[in-house]
Amino acid sequence: MIKCLIIGSGPAGYTAAIYTSRANLKPVLFEGHQPGGQLTTTSEVENFPGYPEGIDGNRMMEDLRNQAVRFGADIRSGRITSVDFSQRPLKAVVDGKEEIEAETVIICTGAYPRYLGLPDEKKYQGLGVSTCATCDGFFYRNRNVAVVGGGDSACEEAMYLSGLAKQVYLIVRKGYLRASKVMQQRVLENPKIQVLFNTNTLGLFGEEYLEGAHLVENKGTDMEQEFDIAIDGFFLAIGHKPNTEIFRGQVELDEEGYIKVQGRSQATSVKGVFAAGDVADPTYQQAISAAGSGCRAAIDVERFLLE
Ligand code: NDP
Repeated sequence: MIKCLIIGSGPAGYTAAIYTSRANLKPVLFEGHQPGGQLTTTSEVENFPGYPEGIDGNRMMEDLRNQAVRFGADIRSGRITSVDFSQRPLKAVVDGKEEIEAETVIICTGAYPRYLGLPDEKKYQGLGVSTCATCDGFFYRNRNVAVVGGGDSACEEAMYLSGLAKQVYLIVRKGYLRASKVMQQRVLENPKIQVLFNTNTLGLFGEEYLEGAHLVENKGTDMEQEFDIAIDGFFLAIGHKPNTEIFRGQVELDEEGYIKVQGRSQATSVKGVFAAGDVADPTYQQAISAAGSGCRAAIDVERFLLE
């Protein structure tokens, strides 16, 4: 019987593993199909406290993993493919085969940013295409960038980038912004941001690094017009999707699929099941906030087992 099963290996999962192993709970952590999580797809992490020179995302995840192993966490490769939280002990299936039992579970399966689905997005990943202005904006000081999306995230990213970049295009597929009124006003009044309404992205171009985007305005109407913009950075802010498919019907989710946590804790709607990191956080979605909630979930588990 596993005392504490941790599902997922981003900053939340590894931090939960550090804390639960130090509390002698002998945690078992399953890394999933992307060990290290989303941060392994960013080049440099410059906003995590404690790294004044910044740190490579992969390296940071390796450090967190090693720290957890040092205190005895049992880190295994493999994916949890289904769970049954309807009775105790809690049950989980690894890679569709082996069934394991646990007294407590911490879900740290994260979220993944939505992409438009253009082949060029993959081609220029890390070479101009990004899904996080807070992480990568700094590399685009005094350069031209574009943000895709019309929600609060896109407006926030555009505002953040306007403090660094020379010019920011906001590419919005509809004729209006979906963001809150305050955010809309800030964006529309910002001289560095040019909002391109009714505009879609057809493709990206550039020799090695990104150099521009092919866009189309008023698609499917008499006024349809294709044009290019010269940009060094292309930021996607069209929402995230939490990795909660296997937990649907097991723990309570919000309307967007994020796991609901109770009050000031990381507890889910099921006793003994906790959630940390982006999977339970539609708002902040930062490495440091994920790590913080991983710590909280571990302490919640410790207290739950004591009770
Ligand atoms: P949203 O779902 O609110 O917005 C997504 C945006 O992306 C919409 O404008 C949508 O367009 C656009 N979009 C989606 N798919 C495509 C596509 N294929 N091509 C082009 N555009 C596309 O997501 P957010 O991440 O902005 O926000 C998520 C939640 O978090 C919201 O509730 C938001 O209010 C909240 N939030 C709050 C913040 C704050 O209060 N400070 C900051 C950030 C987020 P369309 O409108 O046409 O569907």
